[in-house]
Amino acid sequence: MPIATVNPANGETVKTYQAMGEEEVERRLQLAEATFRTYRTTTFDERARLLRHAADLLDEDQDDIARVITTEMGKPVKQARAEAAKCAKAMRWYADHAADLLADEEPAEADVRDSGASRAVVRYRPLGPVLAVMPWNFPLWQVIRFAAPALMAGNVGLLKHASNVPQTALYLEDLFHRAGFTEGTFQTLLIGSGEVDEILRDERVKAATLTGSEPAGRAVAATAGEMIKKTVLELGGSDPFVVMPSADVERAAEVAVTARCQNAGQSCIAAKRFIVHTDVYDAFAERFTAGMEALVLGDPMDEDTEIGPLSSERGRADLEELVDDAVRGGASVLCGGRRPDRPGWYYPPTVLAGIDREMRIHREEAFGPVATLYRAGDLDEAVLIANDTSFGLSSNVWTRDGAEVDRFVRDLEAGSVYVNGMTASHPAFPFGGVKRSGYGRELSGHGIREFCNITTVWHG
Ligand code: NAP
Repeated sequence: MPIATVNPANGETVKTYQAMGEEEVERRLQLAEATFRTYRTTTFDERARLLRHAADLLDEDQDDIARVITTEMGKPVKQARAEAAKCAKAMRWYADHAADLLADEEPAEADVRDSGASRAVVRYRPLGPVLAVMPWNFPLWQVIRFAAPALMAGNVGLLKHASNVPQTALYLEDLFHRAGFTEGTFQTLLIGSGEVDEILRDERVKAATLTGSEPAGRAVAATAGEMIKKTVLELGGSDPFVVMPSADVERAAEVAVTARCQNAGQSCIAAKRFIVHTDVYDAFAERFTAGMEALVLGDPMDEDTEIGPLSSERGRADLEELVDDAVRGGASVLCGGRRPDRPGWYYPPTVLAGIDREMRIHREEAFGPVATLYRAGDLDEAVLIANDTSFGLSSNVWTRDGAEVDRFVRDLEAGSVYVNGMTASHPAFPFGGVKRSGYGRELSGHGIREFCNITTVWHG
């Protein structure tokens, strides 16, 4: 894949970049290692000051970087601005909380005495240069979600961003430099995915985090496993959105549209499978389909646009194949299902009903605005359908029945359960999945501790 900005709204190549050569990558690895030696000794206060400065700069840059993002991956510019604002908030959150989240821990006095120690503490020390392999769908947020906690913990970052968002990748490096972080604290490596393996094998790189597809996660985890390096994997999802009879069906249908179509449906935590109790199925299907059809599809630079193009021609072709396969298998199309006749990689909001287990769309992730509807006879069947997937990222349940909530929280195989709302990440809550959605957590205290050397200090 060339490293280039190609505008998804019209297919035009805006700018192409030369991948960094071996020498430049080597220079950057040396710099990362050298920088870590001093950066690790900085205080939380110093790091927080720089990170807050970066957040302020990002706020100032919001309009400009939003337009870059929209040009590179096609999300509506309003959503790109919201993404930038969310990043600044997360930076400030970690600037405010990192010192407490990583404060020394004191084991219980009885245990300290039992170990024969006069004193013992657990200290969170940084690991070193961490490689971050990131996707294009939230090209700022995915990176900041890693970088804010990693830098606050005293690590340094090496970013290998997706090949279709090079301008955003370079912007991020520049942002951290302008904020006052020394040059090697956060660096962008303009390289193809084929170069990741060698970098991961380099002794100077201590750990890696990858947000992306299952094949990419598998490749990085395999090499990291061989090298005995810590990894965090945030992979795909096919989140269930369950609606039970006691729910506010109208509200559920309204939120379902956003949950499926935000970012043109290219979100790992988008609700993708809508599992509706038979008593409210027709009412939900009607409202949901009407809401999907009403979304404004158009130029992502237009402030009124709700659905822009998909990020790539390949991405649209993959989605079309999933829809065609389902239709061949007998699914009915309640709306959408056909690409519009216009330049750019647009695909309309689509609702499919009559899904069965043999269809690819039942097993695979639909990375675009395509929803599948399932009818469930009772709660047990809803849970069964919800868990009938290799993914386990997040889940959404709509019910006003407390006992049902307890059952869903007990039984859904996912990294989070959102009750009467849609999944949305927040710096204070752990984020991540189970099953093939990956392992490890980002955000919150759990996220910042992933790339720490959890050190026992024992005094005789
Ligand atoms: P992708 O192809 O896996 O790309 C993601 C990143 O991995 C890119 O930087 C890519 O580089 C790199 N990459 C690809 N193959 C690789 C390999 N064999 N070895 C090392 N690096 C490799 O993913 P995508 O299709 O662009 O992104 C969509 C996927 O990401 C979806 O499955 C989505 O659910 C998932 N995602 C997950 C989360 C989460 O938090 N769980 C969040 C967002 C997205 P190139 O661009 O150079 O190929």
